[in-house]
Amino acid sequence: MLSAGLNIVGFSWITSPAATELEMIVLDWLAKMLKLPEDFLSAGQGGGVIQGTASEAVLVVLLAARDKVLRRVGKDALEKLVVYASDQMHSSLQKACQIAGIHPENCRLLKATSSTNYALSPEFLSETISQDLTIGLIPFFLCATVGTTSSTAVDPLLSLGKIAKSNGMWFHVDAAYAGSACVCPEFRHYMDGVEEADSFNMNAHKWFLTNFDCSALWVKDRSALVQALSTNPEYLKNKASQANMVVDYKDWQVPLGRRFRSLKLWMVLRLYGLENLQCYIRNHIKLAKHFENLIAQDPRFEVVTPRIFSLVCFRLLPVRNDESHGNKLNHQLLDAVNSTGSAFISHTVLSGKYILRFAVGAPLTEEKHVNAAWKVLQDKATSLLAESL
Ligand code: PLP
Repeated sequence: MLSAGLNIVGFSWITSPAATELEMIVLDWLAKMLKLPEDFLSAGQGGGVIQGTASEAVLVVLLAARDKVLRRVGKDALEKLVVYASDQMHSSLQKACQIAGIHPENCRLLKATSSTNYALSPEFLSETISQDLTIGLIPFFLCATVGTTSSTAVDPLLSLGKIAKSNGMWFHVDAAYAGSACVCPEFRHYMDGVEEADSFNMNAHKWFLTNFDCSALWVKDRSALVQALSTNPEYLKNKASQANMVVDYKDWQVPLGRRFRSLKLWMVLRLYGLENLQCYIRNHIKLAKHFENLIAQDPRFEVVTPRIFSLVCFRLLPVRNDESHGNKLNHQLLDAVNSTGSAFISHTVLSGKYILRFAVGAPLTEEKHVNAAWKVLQDKATSLLAESL
């Protein structure tokens, strides 16, 4: 309410010094909570910025990386530039490529399978990069995910980052959902290897009690962003900007105008504090674990991928091993549960299997709600199985 009510329109630093300065401060705080390498802090060449969404975050770093490589190899090489990620990467990368003029056939979404729990295989990445190099293409951008949208898979950042570095590529880490969990020491290892990254993103508006929109992006080299995105029209010229004494976030993002979003994050960090935020995350993960245990006790169901955070991927096992009927059955179960209005589950498809997803993420969710949702699922499954006999 404060952020909306104050109605700050922070074009550049001079139009609201407080909005810019607070953003730098809170993103340094959050970077320290996540134990991001010091290169990402505002004191050096890097720093954090609040974007509206993870989609905007990946777009701006893709633009920075594209222009950086084109300065090196010449701007006519645009059609040779290649982007890499797993096929579990969020569709925002594909959209960013469309906007950035990367040829659709040069956006390599490498197949991730159950053998790696849907994480990107470094060997597969290396092979693909080598093949592209032999035909004269230019690998320039790698995107890894900590907590994929479908199943919360975690890509192995350290080995992927080393491959990116040895090929002179920009390495972006999308931790839109799972980044929040990494403020807990016991989950921080999921982002080990982030020291190899050029940029890191997490959505405070997903699982960190901050109102939409608030997507935190850190870069190690802010000048790459500024070179790709800055403009300097007469009507925005001012002493502070021209003397290079301040940060003008307009040059780190697509729009010119910006809200006082840091106030929202400042309020969350001050109001809850690190310990309460950690408890909040741990409680959701505990509830998801509880749901996972409930599933394990019912032989009609299976947990499909190992639960890592607060998302459980599961399904009703197909009757007589008939997979296509199994897919139909799970689709029907999703519709049946959601039509009750008392629980809402979503789905994905992994290796051709239709999978149900139970996510704990609301501040008021308690064990009794998880138990009640499970009861609805079991009851609906009983009816569907009776019908399909
Ligand atoms: N990346 C991941 C891993 C996501 O799960 C999502 C959203 O579900 C996004 C990116 C896109 O988020 P946004 O809506 O902030 O663009």
